[in-house]
Amino acid sequence: MSTPPLLEVSGLSKSFGTLKAVNNATFRIRQGQVVGLIGANGAGKTTVMRMLATLDMPDSGHIRINGTDVVDHPELVRPLIGWMPDYFHPYKNTSVREYLDFFARAYGITRERLLDTVDEVIDFTELGGLQDQMINKLSKGQTQRLCLARTLISDAQFLILDEPAAGLDPKARIEFKNLVHLLKARGKTLLISSHILSELGEMCDSLIFMDAGSIVHDGDMEDLLHRQTESGYAFEIRTAGDTTAPLEEWLALHQGWNVRSVQKQVVVATFASCEPDAVAAELRQLCRDLPVIDFHRSERRLEEAFVDILIHRDQEPATAVSPETPSTTTAL
Ligand code: ATP
Repeated sequence: MSTPPLLEVSGLSKSFGTLKAVNNATFRIRQGQVVGLIGANGAGKTTVMRMLATLDMPDSGHIRINGTDVVDHPELVRPLIGWMPDYFHPYKNTSVREYLDFFARAYGITRERLLDTVDEVIDFTELGGLQDQMINKLSKGQTQRLCLARTLISDAQFLILDEPAAGLDPKARIEFKNLVHLLKARGKTLLISSHILSELGEMCDSLIFMDAGSIVHDGDMEDLLHRQTESGYAFEIRTAGDTTAPLEEWLALHQGWNVRSVQKQVVVATFASCEPDAVAAELRQLCRDLPVIDFHRSERRLEEAFVDILIHRDQEPATAVSPETPSTTTAL
């Protein structure tokens, strides 16, 4: 039997005046998943997250965390949630340790546990060398680590991080990604928003794409990157030698193959069948005929996947997203 979802969102909607900020959003997150919430500025990500975090009330729909309705029983679900907002108020004359100490007390951490709890989050987010630094003097990356440290104080199992990697330089982004992997290894469940696809692609198991308030796709990364196109899976093939002509000729002569592009000795071609046995038979034959040195399934860039999803969505009649099927929305 599959694990029950940690989070179940169904038919969630919220408007601000005439603006439908979130429109009938339905998705699920399982315990231990790292899920990216992608969408352009204004797509509705923060509005969804604020409702999950019990900070805003939905107009309609349901949110259940561990089976508990967050609107009916916010007091029961709040201890399960760690919320990292996309803004930070740098208090004056407050050091990193004082800031975290303040939040630990606010969370009701007992005096006996206080020191250890603050030490643990400082250690985890590698803020040890900065614990006496005034927080208004921290760099962007250090500030984000402090915000994460604050979110981790309560040891909540479900972490909702709104644009945590925004404005980080590449090094700080890698550090942040590593922290996400560590949190996952500790069994945490994470929902992380961004408007930059590649940022989330590196750290998430699954992506939810939002566009203008609606969820337009929800699926795992593997599915998104290797999704079958109408003409089959795409393969990148390379043969020894300085010309791709024999390979192109082979592909033209064999049924089901369709050359999509040729670049730097690599031929990208689709094959009509996705059946492993059929693909294996083709590969065996190809290796018999030509000196193949590389053959692998082509990974689509996330940006391409997103554009593909939006194009298909525009062409298809609207369909409701089943709660059984995770959904994803993205903006770039
Ligand atoms: P960003 O990436 O820029 O943070 P987002 O995807 O998080 O965008 P939201 O902040 O959820 O988007 O906003 C969705 C829409 O709802 C936007 O058009 C925004 O202007 C509007 N909106 C959000 N909060 C409010 C509010 N309190 N009052 C009025 N409109 C709001």
